[in-house]
Amino acid sequence: MNKIKVAILGATGTVGQRFVELLENHPFFEVGHLCASEKSSGQLYKEVMKSRWKISPNIPEYAKNLTIDPCNPENQNVKIAFSGLDSDVAGKIEMDYASFGINVVSNAKNYRMQPNVPILSSEVNPEHLEVIKYQPTKGKIVTNSNCTIMGLTITLKPLHELFGIESVFIVSMQAISGAGYPGVPSMDILGNVIPYISGEEEKVEMEPKKCLGKVNNNIIENADFKISAQCNRVPVLDGHLVCVSVKLKKKPSRKEILEAWENFEGEPQRLKLPSAPEKVILYREEIDRPQPRVDLNTGKGMTTVVGRLREDSIFDYKYVVLSHNTIRGAAGAAVLNAELLYKKGYL
Ligand code: NAP
Repeated sequence: MNKIKVAILGATGTVGQRFVELLENHPFFEVGHLCASEKSSGQLYKEVMKSRWKISPNIPEYAKNLTIDPCNPENQNVKIAFSGLDSDVAGKIEMDYASFGINVVSNAKNYRMQPNVPILSSEVNPEHLEVIKYQPTKGKIVTNSNCTIMGLTITLKPLHELFGIESVFIVSMQAISGAGYPGVPSMDILGNVIPYISGEEEKVEMEPKKCLGKVNNNIIENADFKISAQCNRVPVLDGHLVCVSVKLKKKPSRKEILEAWENFEGEPQRLKLPSAPEKVILYREEIDRPQPRVDLNTGKGMTTVVGRLREDSIFDYKYVVLSHNTIRGAAGAAVLNAELLYKKGYL
């Protein structure tokens, strides 16, 4: 097949590197442009990245000798722009691409809460895609959720459908790669925990309700449950661990919850999309799992790993969720979303 040409915006960043890695030899997509700020553009990707490429031993061959372009949609003959842009600049640049007729699959927060922009999580809410036709631009914008809630909403989805969610309380332990590169100074984070991440709790308390909401009158209406979050930065390189307590409208048995997770699959699995993990949720029975160092790369970083499901004396149940913040929580989920857009005929 003729592959669809794509651009990566913010290709030099933490999420951008993942895009470069995950789009190597992709069966549907071919990277035509690597884009970043003015300070990087005009230089070869391998030059700019020689001390910044951190995720594997070698930069993929196809990317090494591409010249970095500025984020300007003109003269970029692409159908999709994958965005790993800093949110300070993503608003304008992503809108420029969409206005120019290029579909934007974004990791930035800027458009997530617009009523006709889905926070698309391909297994959780593929039906939310139908609202993009009401966006006024020729190119459409689809966003990922915040990385911290990605695994959380995946585990909540089957519980919400089967038993109804009343309230959720979470405490996150978030990796330093979640703050981009170079991120949190080593003097702040080594041997330490920082009980504050700017703007994070607000996003984490807002986005799950939209993700698990329903399409009504051409917009996405939030699900009706309460959620409270405390977010912490911990000295872990990759992988966000979230301790979840949940109260359900109809209290199930522990076995029913485990069955709901075990049987959970979505459109990506049914359509056999290339980035879809075979298992969406993997439950670990060991008493001390999941752990970032051990479980992070389950399903090539696309599987949500869960453990420690037990009764809670205030809520109904509590458990622990791990998801890879730059793969499932960012670039991997965005590539999966674009695969869904392609297979569903939206491109
Ligand atoms: P990052 O490492 O700081 O990378 C930011 C990227 O934005 C770089 O490629 C940078 O290019 C580019 N950029 C900055 N200013 C620009 C400008 N004026 N014009 C064009 N490009 C510009 O950040 P990140 O961690 O990859 O995060 C990227 C986005 O994804 C953010 O919106 C973040 O909130 C979101 N996100 C991150 C994660 C994660 O785990 N890290 C997870 C989910 C979502 P230069 O190198 O040229 O400056």
